[in-house]
Amino acid sequence: MHGFEKLYINGEWTPSRGRGHIDVLNASTEEVMGRIPESTAEDVDLAVRAARAAFEAWSTRPAAERAQVLQRIHDGLTARQDDLAKTITGEVGMPLGLAKPIQVGTPITVTGSYVKLLQEFAFEEQVGNSLVVREAVGVVACITPWNYPLHQIIAKVAPALAAGCTVVLKPSEVAPLNAFLLAEVIHEAGVPAGVFNLVSGTGPVVGEALVRHPDVDMVSFTGSTRAGRRISEVAAATIKRVALELGGKSAAIVLDDANLKSVVKRVVGSCFLNSGQTCSAHTRLLVPRAMHDEAARLAAEVAASFTVGDPFKGEAKLGPLISDTQRTRVREYIQQGVREGATLVAGGAEAPEGLSKGYYVKPTVFAGVTPEMTIAQEEIFGPVLVIMPYEDEDDALRIANGTIYGLSGAVWSNDVERAKRVARRMRTGQVDINGGRFNPLAPFGGYKQSGHGREFGRYGLEEFLEHKAVQL
Ligand code: NAD
Repeated sequence: MHGFEKLYINGEWTPSRGRGHIDVLNASTEEVMGRIPESTAEDVDLAVRAARAAFEAWSTRPAAERAQVLQRIHDGLTARQDDLAKTITGEVGMPLGLAKPIQVGTPITVTGSYVKLLQEFAFEEQVGNSLVVREAVGVVACITPWNYPLHQIIAKVAPALAAGCTVVLKPSEVAPLNAFLLAEVIHEAGVPAGVFNLVSGTGPVVGEALVRHPDVDMVSFTGSTRAGRRISEVAAATIKRVALELGGKSAAIVLDDANLKSVVKRVVGSCFLNSGQTCSAHTRLLVPRAMHDEAARLAAEVAASFTVGDPFKGEAKLGPLISDTQRTRVREYIQQGVREGATLVAGGAEAPEGLSKGYYVKPTVFAGVTPEMTIAQEEIFGPVLVIMPYEDEDDALRIANGTIYGLSGAVWSNDVERAKRVARRMRTGQVDINGGRFNPLAPFGGYKQSGHGREFGRYGLEEFLEHKAVQL
């Protein structure tokens, strides 16, 4: 049981001005595994004032010194990786064997990447008679979701601190415990008081108080398109810079020369990772019509091999979803798919056998899905793959580009040049060819209603910088 009674403000563990608490549930037992304070707008104000007061000294420190501080955060995260992984597996439900390298290993790598980048990044350049200076934006509010909680926090906090910004973090109230562990690491790393602050609570109360606050210069948000829209509206009142990483409905396009058997295995794996709660998951499998039935047969076979169960035990490939709300939502989408006439080839809306506790959903595959169906358009955020037949390359691209989202995608082909031509026509922020791996130095972010702004590498650092032109 992790009981966190206090917020981290101005370098100290500080009691909330409110009296409320939020219970954090274990996704596989449905039992309370921790508690956090339910902050108030007063707490937010205190945290923002601390961040504002710390800004000038932090932003004018030499970059090499900020790199040393980030190195100590990196080392602290590394030292606590087992504790972090177990906490996240409890909160989110991802199997522990995957959570350690993905949920904790990636944030450690990303923190390290900013240590290195600070050693080579040019904060100044001469353009004609101007000295162009890159300077920290100011006080940044980071608001993050629950599905890869530490990863999404570090994707913001590491580059923001590297840039010289000061931060107020509001993690998801559904999986916040890892953020409190991070605050402990940050404290032990000797980050100066006020540079990093943590408040906890719900989006409409604590999140909006941050977005509205006149002393916050930028909001960096990851979460649903719905909340992103609301944040843009509220932030407009004070003309804040806003970076949004939102939802997705990404397509994997299989070209007719691809090896269907190995592709289907990889796409199902990508779709079901973290029980399908991955914003960039390839949740639509687009195949030439002639290959459709075989793709459906293969996908059903792969889905059946996904053992569902306790994420702390070795044999489970698929843990529970994060919450009852999420489980209900996903089951309703599955029922809707059946009602709209898609063919259910694996899984279904009923609970998996033998699991009386935990927010489990069966690994599910629909075939014969057409573009106008709800399950082809909306983000389900569960272990549900839809298979869609297409007529030719133009048709595949029309279907792939035919949603409000544009976060990610994939192309599978034996001809890499052909795959690249197709990738260039996809309206998404990233495309993986033949299973290309996640690259922590490449820009990550969305087109269309998947948001704007980019995270990771130098693109992620630049999000938190202003340009100043000094004419000489
Ligand atoms: P959510 O939008 O409900 O919540 C995300 C965060 O925003 C939480 O901290 C929440 O408290 C806060 N929030 C909610 N309403 C708010 C408001 N009105 N003002 C300020 N803050 C508010 O999303 P979620 O359910 O936690 O996460 C799932 C969603 O996140 C999915 O749609 C998923 O696709 C998306 N996501 C996107 C990315 C990406 O990088 N593009 C990554 C992960 C998740």
